[in-house]
Amino acid sequence: MKLRQSILVAMLLTTSTAAVAAVTKSPWGKTAEGIPVYLYTLSSADLTVRITTYGARIVSIDAPGRDGKKADVVLGYPDAAQYESDASTYFGAIVGRYGNRIAKGAFRIDGKTYQIPPNNNGNALHGGPAGFSTKVWTAKEIPHGVEMTLVSPDGDMGFPGELTLHVRYTVESGSLHIVYSATTTQPTVINVTNHAYFNLAGDGKGTILPTLLMIDADHYTPVDAGLIPTGELAPVAGTPFDFRKPTAIGARIDTPNEQLKIAGGYDHNFVLNNAGPGLHLAAKAVDPASGRSLTVTTTEPGVQFYSGNFLDGTKTGKFGGKYAIHAGFCLETQHFPDSPNHPKFPSTLLKPGETLHSETVFTFGVEP
Ligand code: BGC
Repeated sequence: MKLRQSILVAMLLTTSTAAVAAVTKSPWGKTAEGIPVYLYTLSSADLTVRITTYGARIVSIDAPGRDGKKADVVLGYPDAAQYESDASTYFGAIVGRYGNRIAKGAFRIDGKTYQIPPNNNGNALHGGPAGFSTKVWTAKEIPHGVEMTLVSPDGDMGFPGELTLHVRYTVESGSLHIVYSATTTQPTVINVTNHAYFNLAGDGKGTILPTLLMIDADHYTPVDAGLIPTGELAPVAGTPFDFRKPTAIGARIDTPNEQLKIAGGYDHNFVLNNAGPGLHLAAKAVDPASGRSLTVTTTEPGVQFYSGNFLDGTKTGKFGGKYAIHAGFCLETQHFPDSPNHPKFPSTLLKPGETLHSETVFTFGVEP
């Protein structure tokens, strides 16, 4: 009896130790202005995740494959300086105050027009040229992870109201949880997401074209030539945008299709089928060779599936080589692009007294 009890206690202890993540902090250089940057390492038995205070970015995620061997499954750089000198990829960053595009950078709240400096073909992308991805966040250790905080002043990149944003990254077993909360002093718009690029075969291990992808969406939002949603929710049925059954990303990416042509591949917001207040399935990706899988659940109504179309072989990654087109894919859980100019889309307005709550979970596993 005693032996059985001690075996049980030992089993419980092992299970809880495996689920608990150890957190360490180390200095990680300085910005060009001399602001110190830190790196937090969150490790459970299954996952090791590194997060930097520069842009609150995910720098690496080590996850095991079918053979038990771990590989780093996100794209990125070896140091803060290289993140700072790259204004176009947003590797691993928290993007905001408004992730994705706002047409011409302009929108109205209560009859007043606000203007964000355009930084992408005349439109504002990921919060404008000095968005949240370019800021050094303050950080504090929390159980299983780290909480990053950013105070965006009233008028920051043209957005109204002082916004206080907390992003909590925690690791439990094979899952990375990202929880966002935000408050504002004036009505504003907010759409925050994480911009990690995944390659489940491993960073630098070829393209993501063989990756099997499932997106739980019957509709997506088609775009105009500037990648701004037309406002339509188009059915995916019968198009290369139908990922309701697992399909290789590369299977239809070159088919003649106006939307694929505009974006040079996939760069579209999908309207999630089961959007509601709680966590729901957004997508699942599997690398057939290594067996590594990634399941994405979220409280957000949409997910931007971006197939790394603008990676052009000029950026050298932490693996030591160049990132070619389709070296990684993003699944950015979010509200729809340009929502402030589309009253029929779910609202991105945040008012004083309200607290924005958003949650996304990346769960890594192995397929047999
Ligand atoms: C956008 C792409 C953009 C990329 C930035 C994605 O969220 O949808 O159009 O090029 O971010 O690297």
